[in-house]
Amino acid sequence: MTIGSVPVRFGITIDRARCMLCGRCVENCPYDVFRRDEDTIHVNSRKCVACHRCVAMCPRDAISIRQRPVDYRDHPVWTEEVREAIYNQARTGKIILAGMGNAKPYPVIFDRLVLDACQVTNPSIDPLREPMELRTYIGKKPKKLEFRYDNGDISLETTLSPNLELATPIMVGHMSYGAISLNAQKSIAMAVKETGTFMGTGEGGLHPSLYPYQDRMIVQVASGRFGVNIDYLERGAAIEIKIGQGAKPGIGGHLPGEKVCEDVSCTRMIPVGSDAISPAPHHDIYSIEDLKQLVRSLKEATSWQKPVFVKIAAVHNSAAIAAGIARSSADAVVIDGFRGGTGAAPRVFRDHVGIPVEAAVASVDAKLRSQGIRNEVSIIASGGIRESADVAKIIALGADAVYIGTAALVAMGCRVCGTCYRGLCPWGIATQRPDLVARLDPEVASKQVANLIHAWTLELSELMGAAGINSIESLRGNRDRLRGYLLDESTMRVLDVKPVGA
Ligand code: SF4
Ligand code: SF4
Repeated sequence: MTIGSVPVRFGITIDRARCMLCGRCVENCPYDVFRRDEDTIHVNSRKCVACHRCVAMCPRDAISIRQRPVDYRDHPVWTEEVREAIYNQARTGKIILAGMGNAKPYPVIFDRLVLDACQVTNPSIDPLREPMELRTYIGKKPKKLEFRYDNGDISLETTLSPNLELATPIMVGHMSYGAISLNAQKSIAMAVKETGTFMGTGEGGLHPSLYPYQDRMIVQVASGRFGVNIDYLERGAAIEIKIGQGAKPGIGGHLPGEKVCEDVSCTRMIPVGSDAISPAPHHDIYSIEDLKQLVRSLKEATSWQKPVFVKIAAVHNSAAIAAGIARSSADAVVIDGFRGGTGAAPRVFRDHVGIPVEAAVASVDAKLRSQGIRNEVSIIASGGIRESADVAKIIALGADAVYIGTAALVAMGCRVCGTCYRGLCPWGIATQRPDLVARLDPEVASKQVANLIHAWTLELSELMGAAGINSIESLRGNRDRLRGYLLDESTMRVLDVKPVGA
């Protein structure tokens, strides 16, 4: 007796009266949902992942997709998700892979925080008429500045550490060539150059066609050390050591061999078609002292000219770890929350391991302040930043800047279908198949990503102006501008925010 088939996830219908048999749905669907037979378009709904490419490309708006047209029998404990996972694993005996971020309906802390606005006694600032300082510096800040006075001339005596200068506190996080297409990486590179910010390479090396944008790149050194050599390190504006990732804390990475084409193999420095497996730990880092050695080695290799970041997944003891990182000579700590997107992660990790970035950033900021080492590192928040209000809230909780990931992909056309790991992204983003990659025009996509960063920056300056704040520096860690709404007392204690009305 077999388990039999499970209900289809999505049901597709074609309005036959509107369909003109142009065949675009057949051409555009890489999952073979559509098949043309003489004068009929046949549909196999079971193969549909709801990427919406067919809907977007149909010239007659003839296609509609419904979620779960035949559902599971309802049960509050044995949910359809639980049952489907069991059927799946009973059949295959394998770990279930999933894409994108945590899909559990946990409450989102951002949505239970509200921002402040000035009224009467503390006038707001109009960002259209008054200067707003959105510029952000990432790196160590001196405790004090010393000057030399010489015959009326004043010069700075303090040696400043290398910092990245951002025109906006919004950067694009690490998505490697291999996980996403070269056209997607180029689009992001062009967008960050236009908006005066930075992007991460991910752990896939740096493709030569991105060299013109190298001064906008944060080059990543992860546990697999793919693509890392001295040329790579010297090209980047900053270096990031990736210890962990919010979507899958505690485990390494896996790029399937099918995605390792000739070009990807060159940048990663691995054979074509071989799986790129990053180990869970760095095999040379088992303590803060080991981490310090790597940070200082990377600095030494690049003549102490580049800031070095350390990225960790948001976990229960992030604050203590971040304090160690701040003492390791690193210049920034990146905290990646459990809603962070990913190309492929075991579903059980994606949905059950880690903590929200809001709580992690607040506790890291508090710990660094309490130990008097907040100026030693900048804090970059990532994992689940969805809109400009999230940026304002996380900065008020203590971050200096954010990385966005999924939001940038959505700006390029991603429909969050969650099947990046299959390598068939119909939008040309998470794929290496040449015909699919060609669907993404970097000129167009880069404009969309730049527009998004620009729009969020404008909204951020409006939010700051309304709160009577005219610089990111004054918003950073300014929890008095936040109030918890329907948040439990213990979470508010961790965030160190008051409830609404207080
Ligand atoms: S794309 Fe639309 S109009 Fe063209 S064949 Fe498919 S359903 Fe018909
Ligand atoms: S990048 Fe492509 S495959 Fe991945 S979620 Fe977005 S649309 Fe789906």
